[in-house]
Amino acid sequence: MGKTRKWKWGLFFALCLLITAAVLNNPVTKSPIDGAPEPAGTPAPQGPLAGCAVCLDPGHGGYDGGAYGRDSGTPEKELNLDVALRLAGLLRERGAAVTLTRETDTALADAGENRKRRDLQARVDAAASADLFLSIHMNEYRTRSQSGPQVFYRKGQEGSRLLAGVLQQSLNAALSPARPRSAQTGDYYVLRQLAIPAVLVECGFLSNAAEEQKMLDPDYRQRLAQAIADGVEEYWALAPEHKQ
Ligand SMILES: [Zn+2]
Repeated sequence: MGKTRKWKWGLFFALCLLITAAVLNNPVTKSPIDGAPEPAGTPAPQGPLAGCAVCLDPGHGGYDGGAYGRDSGTPEKELNLDVALRLAGLLRERGAAVTLTRETDTALADAGENRKRRDLQARVDAAASADLFLSIHMNEYRTRSQSGPQVFYRKGQEGSRLLAGVLQQSLNAALSPARPRSAQTGDYYVLRQLAIPAVLVECGFLSNAAEEQKMLDPDYRQRLAQAIADGVEEYWALAPEHKQ
């Protein structure tokens, strides 16, 4: 090999090295999983809830109407779904990844033995990869004087207690109920089965005449959804050690 040829080979190898280095450094070819290029056109979610996966559970559905408006006869299941869909929209706008246990008027198990238990377990299963779980309900009581939103969590779950407290405060501040309630522990199947922060939000009492009228107003349901979304955002902004 003459001098000129050696020089040419040297230049060739140097160029190869440069190209290899450039290819390895190109972020488009880097992927944490398999080296495949990142898909174009799917920007990462942005907003205060980016990275937060929320499972929303509109209570009841299908054969199971839940509570009924004492005056209007409106089933709880309809109002729960409406509030949850409004809330899903607000949370997505803020960057959250939202799944719903149902998006139509259906039970998650509507036939056979133990259908109620299987329905509830399906709601728990839907939250498998979520960071937070919120079950949306409307309350009722035998006397008509009881009113106001109330958030429940499972005793002993610190993340759930914190989430419930923040949500309760947000609901009280936004809706100014006549007698503001405090978040309370409650023994509900869906809360017992979940290890992630999980709460059950009773938006108000369908057995109370004034509150039933409020629930029938879409603007009030939007305010409810807004208050819950604000609470979720506030909770998510807290220190990571609270996100059990
Ligand atoms: Zn209910």
